[in-house]
Amino acid sequence: MDLLKPSDRIYVAGHQGLVGSAIWRALATGGYSNLMGEASSALDLRDHEATEDYIAAHKPDVIVLAAAKVGGIAANSSHPVDFISDNLRIQTSVLDAALKHRIQRVLILGSSCIYPKLSPQPISEDALLTGPLEPTNQAYALAKIAGIVQVQSTRTQYGLPWISAMPTNLYGPGDNFDPVGSHVLPGLLRRFHEAAQNGAPEVVAWGTGSPRREYLHVDDLAAACIHLLKIYDDAIPLNVGTGEDISIKELAEMIAQITGFNGQLSWDTTKPDGTAQKLLDVSRINATGWKAKIDVPTGLQSTYQWYLDNIATARN
Ligand code: GDP
Repeated sequence: MDLLKPSDRIYVAGHQGLVGSAIWRALATGGYSNLMGEASSALDLRDHEATEDYIAAHKPDVIVLAAAKVGGIAANSSHPVDFISDNLRIQTSVLDAALKHRIQRVLILGSSCIYPKLSPQPISEDALLTGPLEPTNQAYALAKIAGIVQVQSTRTQYGLPWISAMPTNLYGPGDNFDPVGSHVLPGLLRRFHEAAQNGAPEVVAWGTGSPRREYLHVDDLAAACIHLLKIYDDAIPLNVGTGEDISIKELAEMIAQITGFNGQLSWDTTKPDGTAQKLLDVSRINATGWKAKIDVPTGLQSTYQWYLDNIATARN
């Protein structure tokens, strides 16, 4: 079964972001040459009418919805209404237009934070909607859950082969290195880099360092997305991860080493830890024939190199 053809016209919504740009690169390298994308300055996907006009005019065969408002624990905690409202509107615009024009193949991307805070680890897809969410990102998580249900409902009501994938924490080239709004990995890469350059005696990281997180390189996610577009046709949103996690303290120590920082690492425990662990059970996607290939030390090294090469233009 191959549900994705090389001649398909593929619209990557959010093709300039961390995830969308990786999917675009992987599609182009894989011989899919009919790609389309729009900068958010040219097409605001929160605008239902503008999005509908775009889909009506271009009628893609496939839509990959990689556009989202994303951020780290501080951004999610301080701007929750932006995270729920922007993400709901982006999803509704794109999915309503896709349904109206009967776009055959749609893949939407969610996040491991859709699962209940106290899910048994590793978290199986079956844990969805079985308990309360982590409060620091529940606005974002609820928007993403609504996306899954919209895809499932479209499958039920119209029989279209739309699918959802739920990646774990992502990182890689094109990430957001903002010191406050970013996720921990790019945030610390930048903070340790600057401390190493300036000879600072100390770097302060947030929380206790004990939460555990799973890190997937975006190029691995992009390979998983193409794989799923080719073969997957089921209502279950599939987890995409490595199946392994590390503590934030271990991550910080790895980043200190890579950036050449030799000073002291301290923890600001007034900042939230967030959920203690959110390791995904990846047995379902592994059974379909996909597995992550890039380990964290290798991916961190290449992401740091990308940051150094793009320091002037990296998002921050
Ligand atoms: P989360 O996975 O949704 O909790 O999002 P983050 O990637 O923002 O945070 C993961 C963990 O790293 C949390 O326990 C944070 O408190 C911790 N952390 C440590 N230092 C930092 C930092 O500089 N930035 C961010 N975003 N998180 C940090």
